[in-house]
Amino acid sequence: MNNIKTVSASAHVLSALPYADSALAPAISEKTIGFHYGKHHKGYIDNLNKLAAGTEYEGLKLEEIITATAGKADKAAIFNNASQAWNHAFYWRSLAPKGGGEAPAALLGKIKAAFGTLQDCKTELAAAATAQFGSGWAWLALDGGKLKVVKTGNAGSPLTMGMKPLLTIDVWEHAYYLDYQNRRADYLSAVLDKLIDWEFAAENLGR
Ligand code: MN
Repeated sequence: MNNIKTVSASAHVLSALPYADSALAPAISEKTIGFHYGKHHKGYIDNLNKLAAGTEYEGLKLEEIITATAGKADKAAIFNNASQAWNHAFYWRSLAPKGGGEAPAALLGKIKAAFGTLQDCKTELAAAATAQFGSGWAWLALDGGKLKVVKTGNAGSPLTMGMKPLLTIDVWEHAYYLDYQNRRADYLSAVLDKLIDWEFAAENLGR
């Protein structure tokens, strides 16, 4: 039952964080999570619901909105908010309080085939995330059966490039500025060494 009259029953909802706000500290502080999840991520969901209400996009899944609006200049606002909503939910699940470490065997085999070692894969992810000029995302994605590291600007998504995302790292300044200021590389090292969830990436191989 939906008792908020201004929000339709099919409205998108902010998915729960898969851990406590403080669970990623000290790599990512509770304060950063509070703003990033509670303000930025929530803001994309709220904006999307306002933009979609009464349009052909109302009631569609995020993935459907993203693929239907990608590359259309007059749909940029709804694309940006839908894709940011999807990207953030995926980012939270790409991290874990006891992440880092080794990748599961099935994933590791594909990582070795594509990059050499797990460390080589991490180095390539960090390089893509560092090289992303301005706001955006770094991704490990499956492209026709082969693993690739890709970066996307702003709200961009591998979903619009025919790829299956396995994990992502947010490199918008709001993801790290409170904790690391301009030191994006330090944020990336902490994420890749302590938080990245290879189990989640491995699960996505089979989805
Ligand atoms: Mn973000």
